[in-house]
Amino acid sequence: MKSDLEKEKKEILNKYHGLLRDCSRRELTKKQKKVIRKAFDVALEAHKDMRRKSGEPYIYHPIAVARIAAGEIGLGTTSVVCALLHDVVEDTELTLDDMEKMFGPKVASIIDGLTKISGVFDSTSSLQAENFRKMLLTLSDDVRVILIKLADRLHNMRTLEVMRRDKQLKIASETLYLYAPLAHRLGLYAIKSELEDLGLKYTEPDIYKLIQKKLTDSKQERSRYISRFTIPVKESLRDQNIKFQIKGRTKSIFSIWNKMQTKDVEFEEVYDLFAIRIILDSYQKEEKADCWRAYSIVTDFYKPNPDRLRDWVSTPKANGYESLHTTVMGPKGKWVEVQIRSERMDDIAEKGYAAHWKYKEGSEASALDQWINRIQELLENPEPDALDFIDDFKMNLFSDEIFVFTPKGELITLPAGATALDFAYEIHTQIGNQCIGTKVNRRLVPLSSELKSGDQVEVITSIKNRPKEDRLKYVITARAKSKIKASIKAEQKKAAVDGREILERKLKNLKINADVANINKLLQFYGIRDSQDLYYRVAIGNLDLKKLKEFTQEQGSIKTSPTKPKSGKSLEELVKRTRGKSDTLVIGEELQKIDYKLAPCCNPIPGDDVFGFITINEGIKIHRVNCPNAIQLMSNYAYRIVKARWTNQELIAFLAGLKITGIDDMGIVNNITKIISTDLNVNMRSLGFDSEDGVFEGTIMLYVHDTTHLTDLITNLKKVKGVSRVERIH
Ligand code: MN
Repeated sequence: MKSDLEKEKKEILNKYHGLLRDCSRRELTKKQKKVIRKAFDVALEAHKDMRRKSGEPYIYHPIAVARIAAGEIGLGTTSVVCALLHDVVEDTELTLDDMEKMFGPKVASIIDGLTKISGVFDSTSSLQAENFRKMLLTLSDDVRVILIKLADRLHNMRTLEVMRRDKQLKIASETLYLYAPLAHRLGLYAIKSELEDLGLKYTEPDIYKLIQKKLTDSKQERSRYISRFTIPVKESLRDQNIKFQIKGRTKSIFSIWNKMQTKDVEFEEVYDLFAIRIILDSYQKEEKADCWRAYSIVTDFYKPNPDRLRDWVSTPKANGYESLHTTVMGPKGKWVEVQIRSERMDDIAEKGYAAHWKYKEGSEASALDQWINRIQELLENPEPDALDFIDDFKMNLFSDEIFVFTPKGELITLPAGATALDFAYEIHTQIGNQCIGTKVNRRLVPLSSELKSGDQVEVITSIKNRPKEDRLKYVITARAKSKIKASIKAEQKKAAVDGREILERKLKNLKINADVANINKLLQFYGIRDSQDLYYRVAIGNLDLKKLKEFTQEQGSIKTSPTKPKSGKSLEELVKRTRGKSDTLVIGEELQKIDYKLAPCCNPIPGDDVFGFITINEGIKIHRVNCPNAIQLMSNYAYRIVKARWTNQELIAFLAGLKITGIDDMGIVNNITKIISTDLNVNMRSLGFDSEDGVFEGTIMLYVHDTTHLTDLITNLKKVKGVSRVERIH
C-alpha cells in the first residue's frame, strides 16, 4: 500500500517534469519557473484527497491540461499556471480571492472565466444555447479562457473510457457539436481533428473501429505508394536547393467518415485518402515564392485537378491559416492531396494563433482579434431566441469564407453564401439598414445576390430606408440577421407609441376605459399576444377598428382564452412517474403505458442503441443513438432525453429499410426476393428496383425482430452474385 503511494508520488513528479519540458520551448525565466512551481504546489495540495473516476490522483488531470496548453497549443506561463489551477476554485476550499492574493488579478480573472464555463457545462446540466452564449461572452475577457477550456475538454475526451455510457454520449456529442468547430474556427487543427476522432469513437464506436482497422490494414500499402509518389519530387526539390521535409499524412478517421457519408461512398472509394505535406524551410520574405516553386515542381510530375487548388498563402483564412493545397493525379490513377507550406505556416496550422503570438509580440489587430470583436458585437445584441442564435452562429462557424472588395479595394471576409446585403451590414449597421441597392462589379444586382470571391461590391443607400421583415430572407450572416431584427423591433416600438394614442382615443369615443383589464379583453378579442403588438397593428392600420363596436356589445360575455396546447411538462411528469426508481425506460414494458413512437428518421429496431426524446406534442420518440439528428438533440435538449433500452420479452416486428446496389444481372432480383421470402420470419412491406446502365439499385422495406436478425439477412443478401453493397437506410 505504502509503496503504491510512493510510486504515485514519483509519477506525479515525473509528470511535472514533463510539463516543464513542454514549457521550455520558450526560454523560461527564474521568475516564471517559480510561479509554475507555486501553482503546481497549490494545486497538488488542494486536490490531494481527490481522485479521478479512473482511480488516479486528481492532480494528473490539471497537469495534463497544462501540458496540452503549453506543448500542443503553445501557450505561455500565465496559461500554464491557470491550467494547473483550473479546477481548484470549483472543487476545493480555495477561493478566487486566494487565487488573486497568490497569483495576481490576471490569473484570478482567467480562473474565474474557466469556473463560470464549467458551471455552465457541468456534467448534469445540459448544453443549451443560452449557456453557449455565456461561454462566448467570456471570450471577450480573455481568449485564453477558451483555449484552456479546449485543453481541458481534450484531456477529458482522451480519458473518457472510464465514464458511464450515457455520459460518454453526452460529452462526445457536445464535443462534436461545439468544441471541435470552435477549435476549427480558432485554427487549432490538430486539436480539432483529435476531438472529432474521439467524438466519433464514442458516438459511433463500430464505424470508428471499422475505419481504424481499414487504415491499419492498408498502412503498408499506403506508405509504399507515398514513397513512390515522393521520390521524383524530392529529387527535384533538392536539385533546386530548396530545404524541405515531406510528411505522408493520413486523413483523420472522422474526415474519412464524413467523406463516406457526404459522397455516399465506401472507404475504398474515398478519393483523397492519400495526402502529403511538404514543409519548406524558408525565410519569411521568400516563403510565398518558395511555396509556388514547390507547387510547380509537384505539378511537373503529376497533373493537378484545377477544381481543387486552394491558395491560402496569398490570402490567409480569417483564423490565420496559411497553406497551398492542390490535388494531383498520382501513379496508378489515384488522387493525392498535396499541402505546401513553410515551417512557420505549419506551426500556426497545427497549433493555431497562440503559436503565432510567439512570432509577433504585442497586440497587432490580427484576424483572430477581429473574430473576437465580431462575437462581442453579436453578444451585445442578443437574439430573443437563443437557439436561432446558436444555429446562425454555427452556420458561420462551419462555412467556408469568401473574399470580396469594397469600391476602394479594401478586403472584406464573409462566409460563403453571403449576399450583397450581408456585405452592407458587414461594412456598417447603418449602411445595411439604409441599403436600397447594390452593385457588384459595377452592375446593379438584387440585394439577395450571392457574392463570389473577388467581387467588388458597392452599396447604394437612402437615409429614409428602414429594413422590413422580408429582408431577413436576403441575408445569411448572424450579424446581418440580428441587426435587421433589432431595427424592425425599434421601428415597431416607435410605431406602437402612436398606435396606443390612436386606440385610446377610439376607446374613449366608445366610452370604454383603456385600463389593463379591458386591453386584455381586447387582446383576446383580436387574438393578439401582447399589447405592444396590438398598438403596433393599430398604428400600421392592420387591425379592423370597426370591429370595436362588436367588442363593446360583447363586452362582459367574452369567453376565456382558448384551450392551451398540450405542453411537454405533463408528459415529462408522466415519464418520471412511470419510470419509478430506475431512470431507464424499458421499451415494451413501461413504455406501453405511455405514448411513444419509433422515430421515422432512423427506424430503430430492438438491439439498436437507443434513447427517448420527449417531444412537445407527440409523446416520446425513440431514436437510434447514431440517428443523424441525435447529436443535435442531445446537445441542445439534453434535459429532454431519457435513457431507453429494449426489453427482450416480446417478439414484435419492426420496420427496417435496406438499400441494395449491384450489377444488373438476369435473375438477380429473383435471387434477392428468394432469400427474403425463404426467411420465414421476414415480412416484406415494399420492394422497388431501379436499373440504369447496367447498375441496379433496390430499396426494400421489411419487418424484422432485431438487429441480429437484420445483420444475418444482410450477410445472406451480400452473398448473392452481382450484389455489391447492402446497407441499412434510415
Ligand atoms: Mn478540468
